[in-house]
Amino acid sequence: MIDTHCHIFKEYYSDTKDVINRMDGYMIVAGCDDKTNLEVMELVNKYDKVFGVLGIQPEEVDKVTKDSYKIIEDNLNNPKIVGVGEIGLDYHYGETNKDKQQIIFRKMMELADKYHKTVVIHSRDAINDTLGIIKEYPNVKCDLHCYSSSLEMAHEFVKRGCMLGIGGVLTFKNAKKLVQVVSEIPLEYLLLETDSPYLSPEPHRGEVNNPMNVRLVAQKIAEIKGISLEKVLEVTTDNAIRQFDLPL
Ligand SMILES: [Zn+2]
Repeated sequence: MIDTHCHIFKEYYSDTKDVINRMDGYMIVAGCDDKTNLEVMELVNKYDKVFGVLGIQPEEVDKVTKDSYKIIEDNLNNPKIVGVGEIGLDYHYGETNKDKQQIIFRKMMELADKYHKTVVIHSRDAINDTLGIIKEYPNVKCDLHCYSSSLEMAHEFVKRGCMLGIGGVLTFKNAKKLVQVVSEIPLEYLLLETDSPYLSPEPHRGEVNNPMNVRLVAQKIAEIKGISLEKVLEVTTDNAIRQFDLPL
């Protein structure tokens, strides 16, 4: 079992060691800014079951300095760093820094291309621009983290070879659109994630999330697709190993 997207940082957990030790499987911890990217490096060097991706989350672009790029690029050859992320576009709070977000997103896509790394994409209220930019980099493998857009767009991303990260939102009562995506898109294109500490699945909605809860997401996918939990875990684990070239 692999949680392909979580943020196991000190600011969210009193004991990150305990959260990591409790996970029965592997996890990919995603950095969002300088501070968390450095924390990702500490974690991957310390724990076998932790892989990392380093990036600049679109909500953090105003904090970026030259050092931010250096921290990322200097560590992309580390075998435990399996991608660039999270990166992307977020127009949820308005489009005032849209140009800056796009410049940094493209810079990150270029880095991923150069170092042959997979990208982990955060996209909110910006799905068309996101698809447009990733199409400029046809050789870069993508994970659309916490996919939340339409089935129609899901088909577009899958056509481009992207994987869709599915998290706890799938278990929420109002998840009709995502349920439709999961039922129509083949399991071979889905990745399990929690986005811990956020988006805890039912019946833990509202609580601090942890990587073990990917099992609840997998359970829901199994229900929707009418297949066994074991099958979901087996195929999504293979998907994650393939998409991130995990040395497992
Ligand atoms: Zn995230």
